[in-house]
Amino acid sequence: MKPAFDPAEQIQNLLQFGEFGGVNPSITDSSTFTFMDPVTMRETFLGHMEGCFLYSRHWNPSNKYLADALASMEETESAWITASGMAAITCSILQLCNSGDHLITSVTTYGGTFAFLVNYLPKFNISVSCVNITDLDAVREAIRPNTRLIYTETLTNPLLQVSDIPKLTGIAKEHDILLMVDNTFSPMIFSPARLGADIVVYSLTKFINGKNDCVAGAICGTKKFIEALSNVNNGTAMLLGPVLDPLRSSGILKNLHTLHIRMKQHSHNAMFMANGLKELGLKVIYPGLPSHPQHALFTSMMNTGYGYGGMMALDVDTVDRAYDLMRMMQEEGVGYLAVSLGFFKTLFSNSGKSTSSEVPEEIQRNMGLSEGLVRFSIGLDNNIERSLMKVKYCLTNLHII
Ligand SMILES: *Cc1c(COP(=O)(O)O)cnc(C)c1O
Repeated sequence: MKPAFDPAEQIQNLLQFGEFGGVNPSITDSSTFTFMDPVTMRETFLGHMEGCFLYSRHWNPSNKYLADALASMEETESAWITASGMAAITCSILQLCNSGDHLITSVTTYGGTFAFLVNYLPKFNISVSCVNITDLDAVREAIRPNTRLIYTETLTNPLLQVSDIPKLTGIAKEHDILLMVDNTFSPMIFSPARLGADIVVYSLTKFINGKNDCVAGAICGTKKFIEALSNVNNGTAMLLGPVLDPLRSSGILKNLHTLHIRMKQHSHNAMFMANGLKELGLKVIYPGLPSHPQHALFTSMMNTGYGYGGMMALDVDTVDRAYDLMRMMQEEGVGYLAVSLGFFKTLFSNSGKSTSSEVPEEIQRNMGLSEGLVRFSIGLDNNIERSLMKVKYCLTNLHII
């Protein structure tokens, strides 16, 4: 029997040595590279010299190691590293869409992505339809002759809806359009490219690096797409230039090797917290709960062993209650009141007034985003029972329960 696909195994099986045999690849502390012969330089510019490094905005060995590791984790032919998740998203979209094109996006996306799609793309005459991505008929109906792309997040921010990647792939293939998926919330849990997605993007800033000490991103896709992005004459990544510093990428690569352990602990803790709060009769959104509308879909798409992820949301109905709760949870040491996610400590924020504030309030209401929604990125707490007790203490004290 063929063993099940395991992204952690893909990382573990990498053989990436430093140039002096170091167990970690050497960090390339150079922006430019020496050539022994001008002919080789000319050929490299023409894209004919695979393995030759030219200039660090194009490729550098440290970023290449990290890209190779992520391509292996996602089982895509190739990958590219960027200086932020937003750079990964914007470069991919600008590479694929021309003036006059149309794309379809899930209305629930990361706020920055929503702002780029809805506020920024119109100046290039690229039009965007926002749909409820769990409504496949709505997706089908939004397709036009000039549609180039369907864009979604595997697990959407902040409502934690699950995108049906196999079915969306089917729709995309039927109409000869591409499916691009942001898998930032669920690395290792889902392998969107294996489920059919054409392009997978990440903010490495979150779970993958897991330390909240830098901002970075990645694009995973076919060799052809990555070569197009990095083409010296017309590649979006090459020409817009959001290159990550090699020192940072070498740090992220080391953190990638502990991602599987961290994801399991994040998931274990979030499941415990979600169950504990649900038992109190609170409105909890967590895909690991059987009451979550896409619980079964999540289960059908997941790689085994990594759980349902570290993201959870709690709806306490009003902004005032959300603020009081967050203030008190920070005082009691539950975690930090901060945006971002995938950190070793629990982070929480009120989505409507922070990471989704780019989304107009009316659209927030239509998508079902309550003003009292507190989004949690559950940390690696060793004693999650005690953390739950602290949250319960805050909820009781504020008369929320
Ligand atoms: C944070 C985030 C981004 C943007 O990534 P940056 O690294 O901050 O540029 C994109 N998508 C999702 C889902 C995110 O959480």
